[in-house]
Amino acid sequence: MLTKTKIYLSSPHMGGSEQKFVNAAFDTNWIAPLGPNVDGFEKDIQDYLGDHTHVAVLSSGTAAIHLALQLLNVSKGDEVLCQSFTFSASANPIVYLGATPVFIDSEPDTWNISPELLEIAIRDRIEKYKKPKAIIAVHLYGMPYKVDEINAIAKKYDIPVIEDSAEALGSNYYGKPCGALSDIGILSFNGNKIITTSGGGALIARTEALKTKAVFLSTQARDHAPHYEHSSIGYNYRMSNVLAGIGRGQMEVLDKRVAARRQNFDFYKKHLSTYDSISFLEEPEGCFSNRWITCIITDSFKLREQIRLELQLDDIESRPLWKPMNMQPIFKDCLHFTDGTSETLFDKGLCLPSGSNLTQEDLYRILNTVTKTLDL
Ligand SMILES: *Cc1c(COP(=O)(O)O)cnc(C)c1O
Repeated sequence: MLTKTKIYLSSPHMGGSEQKFVNAAFDTNWIAPLGPNVDGFEKDIQDYLGDHTHVAVLSSGTAAIHLALQLLNVSKGDEVLCQSFTFSASANPIVYLGATPVFIDSEPDTWNISPELLEIAIRDRIEKYKKPKAIIAVHLYGMPYKVDEINAIAKKYDIPVIEDSAEALGSNYYGKPCGALSDIGILSFNGNKIITTSGGGALIARTEALKTKAVFLSTQARDHAPHYEHSSIGYNYRMSNVLAGIGRGQMEVLDKRVAARRQNFDFYKKHLSTYDSISFLEEPEGCFSNRWITCIITDSFKLREQIRLELQLDDIESRPLWKPMNMQPIFKDCLHFTDGTSETLFDKGLCLPSGSNLTQEDLYRILNTVTKTLDL
């Protein structure tokens, strides 16, 4: 019997020259969290994001958010506003610092942080003498959030924005790359992201001084001295030169990866939008999504589950959309400003396999399994 291979949601896709950069690290013995690949990878990202960016590559996107919060002086007892509809890594670093997350629901146009609810939350917190220290906004699934609106509110109340662009490298807002649209941006190169270093991340600063501070904190906060001298608490968060080699190879194919993921979206949309029970998130004006993951919204929880279980039977991975943070057991006592938007998305939405390495055959296999349920 022919056994079908498992289809994953989003698997790594090497371009070809990653190994060359990794070998160079071995050949020159730069097996350390510094070296030519680290410098080269940072330059590649800066060239991609624009002259105003100063990039520090790190061990993960989570580490980047942790450092970003620290660079904004978030500390014990502070409040940080965070998009509720996201992966837990957007919010966890707030707690690492002893600060408290306040969750904000999404709006339906981009599925990201609602400008209206954000402003309501800020006013409420200021009234109660708890002015938030930072805002964490997320370009979820690669779709840019309402950048102009969010930046305008942030400016009005003088609160810095951390742009969680972990899922959005290659996306842009009116032509300007995601990751470089706010005070501090972060990227992730985890194995499931649009490009990967197996594990890794980056902090995108607006000044060289801020980048230098991020690098200082990420390499154990060593003061300038011949011995080990420390006047602040540091972290071991720098990216390895070996892994940065993978990143350099991946940057060469980033645009191809974006094109392939967008093609996946177009394929699913072409074949599934004919069903009244299925809808897709369109790009609002000015938003260009890397379509990291294609999500469908069904008309009921029941249908979503039927499709998911049918895919599972055929060894095809799919997953409900992110469960909002305000619904997570660990954050259940946190203050939140919500109107049910992301709860509904979580209820009815499904992430379909979206890797840039899916074949036509894979796509038709997935499609046939989904339509089998829809045609019932
Ligand atoms: C993946 C991800 C992160 C964390 O990145 P890691 O590199 O896995 O630590 C943060 N935020 C979002 C929205 C993510 O998808």
